[in-house]
Amino acid sequence: MIYKILKDYWGYTSFRPGQEEIIKSALSGKDTLALMPTGGGKSICFQVPALAREGICLVVSPLIALIKDQVQNLNKNGIKALAVYSGMSYNQIDIALDNAAYGDYKFLYVSPERLQTPLFKGRAAKMNINFLVVDEAHCISQWGYDFRPSYLEIKKIKETVGNVPVIALTATATKAVSEDIVEKLGFGEYNIISTGFDRPNLSYVARNTEDKFGHILRICNGVQGTGIVYVRERKKTEEIAAFLRGNGFTADFYHAGLSKEMRAVKQDQWKSGELRIIVATNAFGMGIDKPDVRFVIHYDLPDSLEAYFQEAGRAGRDGKRSYTALLWNSSDLKRLKAIHNVTYPPVEYIKDIYQKVFIYLQIPYEAGKDSVNKFNLQEFARRYSLNAVSAYHAIKYIEQEGYWELTDEIDNPSRIMFIVNRDELYKVQLGNVQLDVFIKAVLRLYTGLFSKITTIDEAYIAKVTADSEAGVKEKLLTLSRMRIIKYIPRVRTPFMIMNYERLLESNFYISMKRYQERKEMFGKRIESVVRFIENDSVCRSRQLIEYFGQPVQDDCGVCDVCIRRRNGAGGEISRNVAYNRIIDCIRQGTESGLSVNMSDIQTIAGDDYKLYIDVLREMADKGIVNMDGERLTL
Ligand code: ADP
Ligand code: MG
Repeated sequence: MIYKILKDYWGYTSFRPGQEEIIKSALSGKDTLALMPTGGGKSICFQVPALAREGICLVVSPLIALIKDQVQNLNKNGIKALAVYSGMSYNQIDIALDNAAYGDYKFLYVSPERLQTPLFKGRAAKMNINFLVVDEAHCISQWGYDFRPSYLEIKKIKETVGNVPVIALTATATKAVSEDIVEKLGFGEYNIISTGFDRPNLSYVARNTEDKFGHILRICNGVQGTGIVYVRERKKTEEIAAFLRGNGFTADFYHAGLSKEMRAVKQDQWKSGELRIIVATNAFGMGIDKPDVRFVIHYDLPDSLEAYFQEAGRAGRDGKRSYTALLWNSSDLKRLKAIHNVTYPPVEYIKDIYQKVFIYLQIPYEAGKDSVNKFNLQEFARRYSLNAVSAYHAIKYIEQEGYWELTDEIDNPSRIMFIVNRDELYKVQLGNVQLDVFIKAVLRLYTGLFSKITTIDEAYIAKVTADSEAGVKEKLLTLSRMRIIKYIPRVRTPFMIMNYERLLESNFYISMKRYQERKEMFGKRIESVVRFIENDSVCRSRQLIEYFGQPVQDDCGVCDVCIRRRNGAGGEISRNVAYNRIIDCIRQGTESGLSVNMSDIQTIAGDDYKLYIDVLREMADKGIVNMDGERLTL
């Protein structure tokens, strides 16, 4: 049954580690907390059971962006899902809830702020809810970094929806947080299933180097197959992609500043293998499944091991040997430590930003609830002479407290409507042959243009009329200037969505205690990254697994620490030593059933790579080592 659902809706033939156990636990009616790394496949753990049962599944999720994404994905797979979140009008919510109660929908997503509203409670009581799902469940815990006060309301909704099994999911939970989740959600019994943190086919390498470009080149040369290079700054992605292209690789860059179309094109090229290497900010990767990623390089230090684990973990989803490299040097360490204060501007500053945002949006006190506002951070910062980065972090802090949500840039497609009647239009068409052809085409492509503002796509019109996109835009502008159409060109802009009305200075409260705790936790997360890269005496894989609070296990044998230890650390490298280490590396790899290739040699060689390659070549010439493509055997 559950296999059939997996196959029918997703086309997958097998479950990932842990998924089946979680699904079965939920189906047996037990409250279940699933602990699985990001990208591990948590959604399926509640979506499959919900599809296997009658009724609708209520999913609480913290961010509108996440909600929209999931609903879209479900719809794409032919599953009926809908969502209710701040920013929808009362009417829209009313209709959605009606559909959820009486339509044949399988999933209803809500933001936690919605749960307490009388409208929601009234309708929820009429729904046939099969599971209550709490995604990103760590948000419920004050011990967690992402605590959202509104998550505490979730338990109350159980009174309305009845005693249905709860499925809570998270990627980051220490023992204290897990226990907190179980308690705050009122689990019938303590039931945590934790899985998927062990990635035995990944070789983790952290490398202190001043020559990052050189290192990237070596990896791209040494490892076959597709890779990702993660970079913090958008500009740098372009620079590195150009550098790689200059060295003969098919590489391109990717970041959130590119248009949606551009991003889709690059993503597809990379997925299909047309592009071998994508150089990207952390905007790349969400929802991208490519099983055969062979290497992930971090050019900059991530802010947390959670982020690192997630990004590095995109390598080797197919279970085959893959490589991750985290490149760093002393200036990176300094920069990382400086992030701490920037991310947490003073509380007074945060309070000030709260009011300024409302003033900027011209929203008076006690108004603005549920409003959706275009918000341009740069302009906002300019108007009040603020540092945009500090303002951004203040806004994000307030978002965490649940007052509002600042979305990423959202695409608002172009819209048009004819503001003349058909007779008048006809006269225009008679007078201008070129526009006549264009108008006819547009009228053929879209209906209702005389009665309502209609979404159009210039690129699509261009394609159909064998014109350029710029040409189409020009014609639309001309028609607009002639007062024949109303034309609203597309804009890409972030939105500020208000969960609550604007509060008076005296009523807007930020808990100093919580602020301190968050700041401290953030500091600890950064320290963990520093400890991870500096600690070269404990197996990398073990360090990560311990960090995530998972049971300790054996050394992985394939990270830089394990390999260096195996080969005896430090010292001047002579050809002789290199020779012996190469032999050891290949022998030990082969003995443990893993194939050894060039990148393993690179891992043990570090900055002596040239020497090692030289020695290896000599060994190959003498027939001591066989080189079968990338694969090395004795
Ligand atoms: P998480 O919520 O744990 O971060 P998601 O549920 O978003 O992860 O899943 C990450 C990706 O893994 C999704 O694109 C999903 O389709 C894919 N995935 C999940 N389960 C499987 C599976 N059993 N087989 C193949 N792909 C899967
Ligand atoms: Mg998820």
